[in-house]
Amino acid sequence: MRGMLIIISGASGAGKGTIIKELLEHEKFSLSVSRTTRTPRVGEIDGIHYYFTSRAEFERLIDENAFFEYAEYNGNYYGTPIENVEKKLAEGTNVILEIEVQGALKIMDFYGNPFFSIFMLPPSLTELEKRLRERGTQAEDDILRRLKIAQSEVLYVDRYDYFVVNDTVEKAVFDILNIVNTEKLRTKYCNALLQKGGFI
Ligand code: 5GP
Repeated sequence: MRGMLIIISGASGAGKGTIIKELLEHEKFSLSVSRTTRTPRVGEIDGIHYYFTSRAEFERLIDENAFFEYAEYNGNYYGTPIENVEKKLAEGTNVILEIEVQGALKIMDFYGNPFFSIFMLPPSLTELEKRLRERGTQAEDDILRRLKIAQSEVLYVDRYDYFVVNDTVEKAVFDILNIVNTEKLRTKYCNALLQKGGFI
């Protein structure tokens, strides 16, 4: 059976990374590692957090159609390598894409296969600012730009299938697991089962 494609977006600093890490402890998902031109933060490892790439290399890969989707965010490119998606889904692996809104909208508008999308919200803008500052890895102007982008991204929340408020990690993980379990019960996934059982 084909794997599920799950898109997760939400403000930088909303806690997507922590929640997805926790989620991977509960369910078997493949988290797509993106390519980016931004500088690594302290503690980030090439090939684990991102594939860190020069702008010239990224643009060469765009020309070669090597991305499932890509976007420019806060002055840098971010993209999902194509090999992280189709082959895995065809093998039956569930794939999570943790991507910003422009990339997600492109998939929503053009992708022909099933997927579902979740928008993760911080409890408030004040809390988001607090979390971004507590991370301590970004310069002031970067934090302010990210807050501004977060305010514009939230306007697209109704393009997503679900929203999850990241109040506590436990609650957000619980909500996402409920969404995943509900999605598994969609009739589009029933055909393979019916055929196996000899109903059709
Ligand atoms: P950060 O710099 O905080 O790691 O990421 C900035 C934003 O880029 C986040 O919203 C993150 O979800 C998004 N992002 C990470 N990888 C990708 C990708 O492959 N494609 C797109 N469109 N956005 C991405």
